[in-house]
Amino acid sequence: MPTRIYLDHAATTPMLPEVIARMHSLMEDTWGNPSSIHAEGRTSKALLEKARKSMAAHFHCAIGELFFTSGATESNNMILRGAVQGLGVDTIITAPTEHHAVLHTLETLQEGGVVKVLLLPVDHRGQPVLRDLENHLTQLHGHRVLVSLMHANNETGALLSLENVGALCLEHGAYFHSDSVQSVGFYPLNFQQLPVHFLTGSAHKFNGPKGVGFALVRGGTGIPPLQWGGPQERNMRGGTENLLGIAGMALALDLALVDREARLQYLQSLKEHFFHGLRAALPDVEINGPELADGHPKILNLSLPHNAATDMFLFNLDIAGISASGGSACTSGSDAGSHVIRAMYPGRDRVNVRFSFSHLNTLSEINQAVAIISGIYHK
Ligand code: PLP
Repeated sequence: MPTRIYLDHAATTPMLPEVIARMHSLMEDTWGNPSSIHAEGRTSKALLEKARKSMAAHFHCAIGELFFTSGATESNNMILRGAVQGLGVDTIITAPTEHHAVLHTLETLQEGGVVKVLLLPVDHRGQPVLRDLENHLTQLHGHRVLVSLMHANNETGALLSLENVGALCLEHGAYFHSDSVQSVGFYPLNFQQLPVHFLTGSAHKFNGPKGVGFALVRGGTGIPPLQWGGPQERNMRGGTENLLGIAGMALALDLALVDREARLQYLQSLKEHFFHGLRAALPDVEINGPELADGHPKILNLSLPHNAATDMFLFNLDIAGISASGGSACTSGSDAGSHVIRAMYPGRDRVNVRFSFSHLNTLSEINQAVAIISGIYHK
């Protein structure tokens, strides 16, 4: 297979060799059921709790505030449904730029008539308008409100201030949930200090395995389980734990955080280099979302005018060996376009493509990608 250049790390990341090696060895020797009381079970239980302790230390949260799940979709469902069922939340304020794991969950809750969902407007940089949030919170006095806004947008890299939104929520007695899938492992998330009630993440976005994630639930904010069964996860999620995945996730988080600052700087340099290279070759290119210096350094969303070269752009990139995305991973296959970009630029008709980088990309790959894209564009 010819060498490919993978620039879709916001969709998913490859697992690091250290994580694969660890999971492989655990597969061979730590296979007991953590709920069993015999030696094999106790070994697995110890491993599970070691992973919890290590992740809780990174998030500065209590061990009892961290729940393992199958990923962020489940975690978001657990929080949003749980807040309605267990906390009596009757209104949820969110934004049209959230991931479908939030938006589609809220649609089903709203259709069931159990909750009212309010969508904040977003500006052309992808920021929800906080003045509108404040107005809503003021008017909703007497209601049980949850605000659900993501930390880093998976399509544009727009970064939200958790401190500012959390402070508004505190002032008005609202709960605050943040889907932090794209920022876990990249930004410090101190749950003890952040004014956030619920935070969700997923291992495969920081070089861990797929199908495993977590939810942080602030102590004392009792929500009911989403999934019923055995007493696993302190009765919050029935089902035998994905032990290998959890151990792999904990190691991947350790590795991401050891090098966090250096990686962020490196990602920023890759992003800038890529953009300046493309701009020189394709003067029509524009950024969707935050300015180059702002936003998550791993994500760069660009738009180009429609023409013969861009109408099949993602397809042509793929044929030429470059993996990028036109929307979130679930829609990129069918190329349905991006609900996020539509919300930010209503009525605009350009071709949008998201490039997302990792510390595994090299400068040489970036230079090659620029040359290939320029070739496609000027063919
Ligand atoms: N939230 C955001 C912001 C995401 O980017 C993703 C993954 O694409 C998800 C939620 C869903 O995560 P998972 O694949 O773990 O269910």
